[in-house]
Amino acid sequence: MADAQSYVGRFAPSPTGPLHLGSLYTALASFLDARARRGLWLLRIDDIDTPRNVPGAVGSILKTLEAYGLQWDGAVYYESQHLDDYEQALARLQHEGLLYPCVCSRKRLAELPGRHDIYPGLCRNRIAIPAGQPYALRARSDDRDIVFEDRLQGLICQNLAAEHGDFILKRKEGIVSYQLACVIDDHLQGITHVVRGLDLVDSTPRQIFLQQLLGLPTPSYLHVPIIIDSHGYKLSKQTLAEAVTLRNAPAVMFKLLELLRQKPPVELKQASCPELLDWGVRNWDPLPLNKTRSVQPG
Ligand SMILES: [Zn+2]
Repeated sequence: MADAQSYVGRFAPSPTGPLHLGSLYTALASFLDARARRGLWLLRIDDIDTPRNVPGAVGSILKTLEAYGLQWDGAVYYESQHLDDYEQALARLQHEGLLYPCVCSRKRLAELPGRHDIYPGLCRNRIAIPAGQPYALRARSDDRDIVFEDRLQGLICQNLAAEHGDFILKRKEGIVSYQLACVIDDHLQGITHVVRGLDLVDSTPRQIFLQQLLGLPTPSYLHVPIIIDSHGYKLSKQTLAEAVTLRNAPAVMFKLLELLRQKPPVELKQASCPELLDWGVRNWDPLPLNKTRSVQPG
């Protein structure tokens, strides 16, 4: 554990269902990256979007990780136990004039001309919110370019004003956004290295922006390809991706190592999960995934 402070990684699944091959793929990548650097690997359950939580999903996720030998360090971190921390960050940003209430409905925004993924700032200069009206909180984005070097994808640059506009930190229903919670969690857990799926790369500039507003350090980022199905869609609950099997874990792990372009030797086809992980840690090299956006299981 000598290098523990210099590398703290994490896996942060949402308890919206059991792990599928795509989520286990990113879990394995972040595990191997952490262990290859003798770092810590923490587990965080992204459970604040309560309407999407599925009963029993947390237990199923933990059981699957254990069955595959992906043992995390320390206690499991639950976002739902950190709501006060998110509120403190919101209060601070509000105090500094960096966010504002927004009463726009989804319907209203959909009726506007132009790109619907960029908020046009309708409530930016509103003085007062009509009493009793529910509102969201938005971060004031600005015209700065957020630039970061992804360890696999190279230099990434995004202008927040042009790509997202002012973005939501807390929804009208009172749920804190993924962007804010993730930034606070990464800080509280002391995360130094984020390894996650490429589907989240578009969130990274907003998270770096929030880190800058809150005076928090920016971790190193590595976005691995996503696994797509035979129709070219990302494996997800929405595309009805199957839960990973617990019955034949070593064969699945061998396949995942191949999909991570690690070229496990054929002799390991009969190996156990601990043996495969041991080989995976000793030989981990993410560079063969360089600039790859998606992989497809054969
Ligand atoms: Zn608004």
